[in-house]
Amino acid sequence: MKRILITGGAGFIGSHLCERLLNEGNEVICLDNYFTGSKKNIVHLLDSPYFELVRHDVTSPYFIEVDEIYNLACPASPVHYQYNPIKTIKTSVMGAINMLGLAKRIKAKVLQASTSEIYGDPKIHPQPESYWGNVNPIGLRSCYDEGKRCAETLFTDYYHQNGVKIKIVRIFNTYGPRMHPNDGRVVSNFIVQALQNKDITIYGDGTQTRSFQYVDDLVEGIMRMMGTADSITGPVNIGNPNEFTILELAEKVIQLTNSKSKLVFKELPQDDPSQRQPDISLAKKVLNNWEPKIQLNEGLEKTIAYFQSII
Ligand code: NAD
Ligand code: UDP
Repeated sequence: MKRILITGGAGFIGSHLCERLLNEGNEVICLDNYFTGSKKNIVHLLDSPYFELVRHDVTSPYFIEVDEIYNLACPASPVHYQYNPIKTIKTSVMGAINMLGLAKRIKAKVLQASTSEIYGDPKIHPQPESYWGNVNPIGLRSCYDEGKRCAETLFTDYYHQNGVKIKIVRIFNTYGPRMHPNDGRVVSNFIVQALQNKDITIYGDGTQTRSFQYVDDLVEGIMRMMGTADSITGPVNIGNPNEFTILELAEKVIQLTNSKSKLVFKELPQDDPSQRQPDISLAKKVLNNWEPKIQLNEGLEKTIAYFQSII
């Protein structure tokens, strides 16, 4: 049995990771400040004697003895991370310093939930890990993008300077049950709008693309990454390479929900990336032939069923 700390454990991805690691016989400590996460996401785990919940903010140091740390704490939806941009960058940077300091002290392995936003509005397509990205340092998305880029730098420097056992995964757009209905991200927005027969809000002309990964595939990928040899530090892209335009996503959601919703076009937010698709050759190579198993239709059906149950 390993003892594992998950920061941001009460969030969308964190709650799935807590559940999976607990089900596999580990002791899990879920740390969260509930900014975007909720106790509701992990309430079903509270009966387990091997599950512990801690209200804490990663911008302050935290001390505990664990074997592994998954550092997921950070709002991920543009609406939420732009709400208090200074807090967002503090969460990424100070959170990374605090978790790396802890890992160094207790000799734990530490995994950073990085992001495809590292690539900004990419000029290379699909995006391999070797691409340095095209990121605006002073735009609306910068607090998140640059915070995550700085966290990658910190992780790499703690590895080289202090020998901390680090793992960096770059997560591409992930969706599934337990996304917050008002989260603002495209999959949850479209499903909630379609289920209520409200207008589907397409930002821009809807020709921008994203590659959508179902949460179970991501959890499998990041757990495999944690299990790799110490020499494998990443960054490793984890995403589903099947790419769709936002218009295609809207049409699929309308069809799968039998909705009467109409499309409405709204202004495209600043610096919204025009295309995004992971090159997952490295993940396949180092993560024991990992690849996504759940494609968009199946994943959307599961996610729609979840939103139907809570709306
Ligand atoms: P989420 O907003 O549901 O979860 C983030 C969690 O972190 C929440 O529970 C929130 O309350 C907590 N948190 C935020 N600031 C904190 C702080 N200062 N201290 C302690 N807890 C804090 O988002 P998610 O989609 O589950 O994302 C989890 C991680 O994965 C994030 O680091 C995000 O950047 C990364 N990621 C997600 C995606 C995606 O598509 N979902 C893509 C790339 C990267
Ligand atoms: N988007 C949209 N309508 C919405 C929400 C998002 O058209 O109601 C678009 C958004 O402009 C972006 C894409 O969907 O081009 C994905 O947005 P999301 O916020 O989910 O993630 P990110 O931009 O961080 O990839």
